[in-house]
Amino acid sequence: MTVIRGATTIARDDAEEIKGAVKELLDQTVSRNTLHLDEILSIVFSSTSDIHSYYPAKAAREAGYAMSPLFSAQEPDIDGGLPLCIRVMIFVEKNITPHHVYLRGARTLRKDIASKINIAIDGPAGSGKSTMAKALAKSMNILYLDTGAMYRACALKAIKTKTDISDEAAVIDCMRDLALEIKYEDGVQKTILDGEDVSERIREPEVSMAASTVSQYPAVRLKMVEKQREIADKMSCVLDGRDIGTFVLPEADFKFFLTADASVRAQRRYDELTAKGFQVDREELEREIVRRDEQDSSRALAPLKRAEDAVLIDTSSMTIDEVLAEIKRKIQEKI
Ligand code: C5P
Repeated sequence: MTVIRGATTIARDDAEEIKGAVKELLDQTVSRNTLHLDEILSIVFSSTSDIHSYYPAKAAREAGYAMSPLFSAQEPDIDGGLPLCIRVMIFVEKNITPHHVYLRGARTLRKDIASKINIAIDGPAGSGKSTMAKALAKSMNILYLDTGAMYRACALKAIKTKTDISDEAAVIDCMRDLALEIKYEDGVQKTILDGEDVSERIREPEVSMAASTVSQYPAVRLKMVEKQREIADKMSCVLDGRDIGTFVLPEADFKFFLTADASVRAQRRYDELTAKGFQVDREELEREIVRRDEQDSSRALAPLKRAEDAVLIDTSSMTIDEVLAEIKRKIQEKI
């Protein structure tokens, strides 16, 4: 049997806050420890005496953890203790090395085990960022955040509402009621736009160039950057994009900048798109990639640029395994 510990805090004693914090704590514990729900024997909560609005165990039941006995208790009031704190112990059937999970304000409780890692992987289209970021996140058992998907979702919203992409004011107007949600299902990022799963649709070629255009507009960028920072602030993750190391997380623990010749990148995209059944012209794809690079590199706010302290890797003649090994070696050197 294994016991996994965790804790989190809430901003105020409010039922919705408690439900959200409990769900986040359990979801993260399950994902970081790659647990199946039927492996959980029991979940025990305790909360500080300033929490009255909801039982954490009830919140857990409502969040889908109803398969095992749940229990919550209140802790005595301790002078100088962390306020508004919910602690959990999860008893699991199998024997594993537990990854304890301390979130939000509770990170200060266990700095030794709660150390969060943010890894930035930037580079132009087709440089291999997302393949690497995904593989790295999986091998480290942390989250992968595809920031390009967020700009692609903004572009799709503009396309769907027939907004003129080149009209900045119209695009900003169209983003006002943007309902964009990033969810994880079995560790895979799902992009939900206005309630619809658009994870596949945003990969369509017409969305790529539109994403590059809408991502130039500062109001759109800042809205997305805020979401990205919020996610990275709460948990260890690998983020891939264009400006992670320079703008979104200049304090990231590790930074990589991947690049490759335009023709190699175009071929990779061509293979990727044709494998998905899209009909694309290889030469046109290369021209589009070059145009997109130019537009991404020349925008005023947070352009595509290597951070000075990012490790540069030219992936033109490297295999996926070679690049991944190089990235892991660099991380090991620094840890
Ligand atoms: O990486 P991906 O090709 O999915 O990104 C689509 C577009 O989104 C890019 O061409 C770029 O203009 C924009 N983007 C960005 N900043 C990021 C990620 C993507 O501007 N961090």
